[in-house]
Amino acid sequence: MENSLRTLLDDIKTGHRMSEDEALELFQIRDRQVWQIAAAADEMREQRVGNVVTYVRNQNINVTNLCVNACGFCGFSKKPGDDGIYFHDKSEIQKKATLAKMREVSEICTVSGLHPDFDARSYCDVYRWIHEAAPGVHLHASNPMEVAYAAKKSHLSTHEVLTAMKEAGLGSMCGTAAEILVDAIRKKICAQKISTDEWVRIIREAHAMDIPTTATIMYGHCESEEDRVHHLSILREIQDETHGFTEFVPLSFIHMNTPLYRAGTARAGATGREDLLMVAIARLFLDNFRNIQVSWVKEGIKMAQLGLVAGANDLGGTMFEESISKGAGAVNTDYLDPAEMQRVAEDVGRTLRRRTTLYELV
Ligand code: SF4
Repeated sequence: MENSLRTLLDDIKTGHRMSEDEALELFQIRDRQVWQIAAAADEMREQRVGNVVTYVRNQNINVTNLCVNACGFCGFSKKPGDDGIYFHDKSEIQKKATLAKMREVSEICTVSGLHPDFDARSYCDVYRWIHEAAPGVHLHASNPMEVAYAAKKSHLSTHEVLTAMKEAGLGSMCGTAAEILVDAIRKKICAQKISTDEWVRIIREAHAMDIPTTATIMYGHCESEEDRVHHLSILREIQDETHGFTEFVPLSFIHMNTPLYRAGTARAGATGREDLLMVAIARLFLDNFRNIQVSWVKEGIKMAQLGLVAGANDLGGTMFEESISKGAGAVNTDYLDPAEMQRVAEDVGRTLRRRTTLYELV
C-alpha cells in the first residue's frame, strides 16, 4: 500500500478526484501512513485556503429540550415528566439574545428539541424575537429535521416553511440531523428522524432558495467505514450541483450519556486516529468544499489543534452556552476564548482571524 498510497496522494494533489473505493482504503489505514494522509491534506488545505485559521463569535440559544423524538445518540432531549425540562419564552429568549449582542457575537444559533406544541409559526416567532433583541446578528438556525417537523405540524410544504423562516430572518441553516446518510444506520440511531432522501431534498431546496447551510457527519457510533464514505459522497454530489454548503463539520460522537451507548449498540466514540483521518480524508475527498471545520466542542482543543495540521482551516465558534454536547457527557463545552484559539493556531504557525458565518473575514 505504501507506494500506491504515495501515488494516490500525488494524483490528488494534481487534480485527481478521489473515488469512493480509494476513500475507503484511506479510512482503513491504521499505521504511520495516517501521517502521510494528514500531511497531504494539510498541503491541500494550504493550496485551497492558505494559512489563516478562522473562527466565528457565536452563541447558542436552545429554546427547549423537550422533544417528540428519541434519538439514541442524544443526551440532550427530555420527555414529558423527566427532570430538568426547560422551555424559554419570548422574554427569556430576548434576554439571551441581548446578552449575545453585548458579547459582540455575530451569529446566534438556535437548534432545539422538537417541542410537541411547535409549528412553523413557533420557529418564525423565535427568529423575529431574536432579531428584535439583537438586530444585525446572523441567525444560523434550524435544520432539515426541524423544517420537516414544522411543515408537518402546520400542513405546509417544506418550501413554504423555508420561505416563512427566511422572511422571519433565517440567515443560514444548520446542516445537522444528517448524522449518517445511510437509512439502515438511521433506523438504528434515530428511527424517527427524516430519511436520507428527505434530508438531501430539503438541503437542495434550501440551497436553491439561497439559504446556505453547513454540512455535517456524526461518526464513531455504529456506522462502518463504507457508511462514512457513502455519506461524504452524497455531500460532494450536492455541492457539485448547488455550491450551497459553507463548510464541512465532522462531529465526533460523544457517547457517555446516550441511550445508544448504554444499550451497547454504539461504541465509545471515535479514536484519535479516526478523528484525524475524518478531517484529512474530508479535505482530500471533498474537493469542492473550501472550509473544513474541527469541532473543539466534540474533540477537545488538543485534538482540534491536530486537525488544523490535517486539513482543517476553521475552529468553529466561541459557543457561549453550548448544551447539546454537554448533555451527552462532553466537558468544557461552554465557551472557548479566542485567545486560546490564537494560542493553538500560532503554535502550528498559522494566523487566527475572526470571520462571519459566511466566511467573510472581520
Ligand atoms: S437529536 Fe434532536 S431530534 Fe433527536 S432526540 Fe435529540 S433533540 Fe430530539
